[in-house]
Amino acid sequence: MQSTYNFWLVAISFAVATLASYTALDLTGRIFLLASARLRHAWRLGGAVALGVGIWSMHFIAMLAFSLPIPLGYDFATTACSLGLAIGASYLALVMTTRARLTALRLLSGGILMGFGIAGMHYTGMAAMDMTPGIHYQPGWFAISLAIAIGASSAALWMARALSNDDARNVFQKRSGAALVMGIAISGMHYAGMAAADFPLGAVCGAANGVNTIWLAAMVSLFTLAILIVTLMLSRFDARTTFLVGAVSKLNGQIIRLATLDSLTGLPNRATLTERVERAIQSSRRERSLFAILFMDLDGFKTINDSLGHSVGDDVLAAFSQRLLQCVRSSDTVARLGGDEFVVLAEHLASREDAGVLAESVLERMRHGIWSDSQPLQVMPSIGIALYPQDGDTVDTLLKHADAAMYEAKRAGRSTYRFFERSMNEAATRTLLIQSALHEALSAGSFTLHFQPKFHGGTDSLVGAEALIRLIDSKLGTLPPLEFIPIAERSGQIVQIGYWVVRETCRQIRRWIAEGLPAMKVAVNLSPRQLLQPNLVAEMLAIVQAEGVPCQQIMFEITETVAMQDAPKTIEMIREFQANGFEIAIDDFGTGYSSLAYLQRFRVKQLKIDRFFTNGLDEHGAEGSAIVSAIIALAHSLEMDVVAEGVETESQLDILKSMQCDEMQGFLLGKPLSANDFGDLLKHRTVAA
Ligand code: C2E
Ligand code: CA
Ligand code: CA
Repeated sequence: MQSTYNFWLVAISFAVATLASYTALDLTGRIFLLASARLRHAWRLGGAVALGVGIWSMHFIAMLAFSLPIPLGYDFATTACSLGLAIGASYLALVMTTRARLTALRLLSGGILMGFGIAGMHYTGMAAMDMTPGIHYQPGWFAISLAIAIGASSAALWMARALSNDDARNVFQKRSGAALVMGIAISGMHYAGMAAADFPLGAVCGAANGVNTIWLAAMVSLFTLAILIVTLMLSRFDARTTFLVGAVSKLNGQIIRLATLDSLTGLPNRATLTERVERAIQSSRRERSLFAILFMDLDGFKTINDSLGHSVGDDVLAAFSQRLLQCVRSSDTVARLGGDEFVVLAEHLASREDAGVLAESVLERMRHGIWSDSQPLQVMPSIGIALYPQDGDTVDTLLKHADAAMYEAKRAGRSTYRFFERSMNEAATRTLLIQSALHEALSAGSFTLHFQPKFHGGTDSLVGAEALIRLIDSKLGTLPPLEFIPIAERSGQIVQIGYWVVRETCRQIRRWIAEGLPAMKVAVNLSPRQLLQPNLVAEMLAIVQAEGVPCQQIMFEITETVAMQDAPKTIEMIREFQANGFEIAIDDFGTGYSSLAYLQRFRVKQLKIDRFFTNGLDEHGAEGSAIVSAIIALAHSLEMDVVAEGVETESQLDILKSMQCDEMQGFLLGKPLSANDFGDLLKHRTVAA
């Protein structure tokens, strides 16, 4: 039988297929955005209905476009069955494409399933015409229609997935393109299937029952379009609102987190701590109970941060906070105030001793603890404790007093704890006074240098001096360096002070020379913060050259502890100093548990034995002597000179001489002197050449 097609209905069928595909793609893209599993499921079902109805009506409209020279109609039950198949296949497709992972196997089996679904829908739809004799299908075209259905479905599934993984740009264009391909594929399947169908001459359609096909076509098209458009709009609306609701509540959570928690460690921040301490004050007042504030900061954290970088510093802080949490009771609050400052609020203590026990156990665990993160990391805090009610009854005073106690703990040698005492308040106030005195001194130049002579061990001749800084303040009087250097170190003022010391040392050397005195070799102390200055050597060189003093006259002293902190970097810096003619000494040797391997690689001019060991020659008898003689022998084997510091007694001097100690420095031989007094000394003593 000769068949014909109505062009407009073919066009509409194609448009419906494309729109249905677009709706499905749009849905798969959005189902991901939905937070709740129930919503996702509901939309998968809704989407399957839309896509299924779309595919089915594409077929149905295309069938209406098709006419034979005999009246045609469709059996209701079979047609409904074909619709069911279309929806089922679409549901499978949506489930496949909205799965978390889409493997090649899953894609292929999904494609086959859906292909069979579409083809099944088509041929069932054809069967609904109830032709007698039956439609004869050409195997070639039949196979092609099946291949198109499977191939197109696989391609569509893949595209839908690729699109949903894509970034947000040009999504509409890409999705439209994919929908067009899918529309062509669905239509292609249909028309290939139709090409396969041979209607024998004289066949009769058993389902023809006089329904107005044009009216039916219009109704079906309108109905389908309406379903698709409503689905599209609803899905957009729903996805957007749930997405927005999700985003807003997430944002809300983030804002709360930001306001109350520290972003690096996730611990409560200062604001939250303040609130909790306030609550603790209220409840302790009611219950007449005791609570403690443990204020801690990490020993040497600045050095870690400056030398290893901020991201390492951050890791250290995060690891420390985790460990700290493991050290305290679950009812205690651990907060980070910023920087390397942490606070533990421990409520409901039975006695003051409980706070000490807690601090002790924190220190003990930090020293030996086995940690879940098992990072090779040893950071120790210094802890200051303030108690409510005796040490204060406001958040501010309690924190301030715990902080003052913490400084006291640092002063007492770090990695320990101290309870607040009234006298510490004065110490904190004094720190502030010194800070501003330093500030003034830097601009007014009210520092002075004293020079302590160094003598040759064998000949007693003067071999050099160590420059030691003093601060004379109108209010505070003369301050020893041990009091203000640590404060300048913390505030960073030490860097400028250090440049001043070198400049003033050079000027003093020139003044002595101008007075006709011999050129002196002067040792200048470098503090940890200065060593972290990347351009330290260049700056020092510029100063010394500007003052017109040969670099050979200046020796820099680096304490052993600081030198060892980042030994490879120290070696580099020592080499740079030496390349410019400066000499280097390792100061306070014996206090820093040096790795001897590094000591060898430092290759410095001098090793200065710490006063503690010189002292030990008298106090620790044979054992003390053995240590010092071992250090001297070691230094000599590494071709370094040894200077004994803090020589105070004749017996010490005698023992050191017998041990071939190269140079001596100490109150016995000479105290630090003003520049003028040192000039007098230069006039009267033999000076080593
Ligand atoms: P240091 O480098 O170990 O300096 C030696 C300290 O020991 C000096 O204290 C000196 O006066 C003292 N001393 C010398 N002989 C004896 C002795 O026989 N017995 C006793 N008990 N002490 C003795 P000073 O001047 O108070 O300096 C203390 C520390 O301050 C120095 O220790 C040094 O680390 C630091 N310092 C001093 N001046 C400067 C400076 O210009 N820059 C830097 N960065 N640090 C400095
Ligand atoms: Ca020194
Ligand atoms: Ca020293």
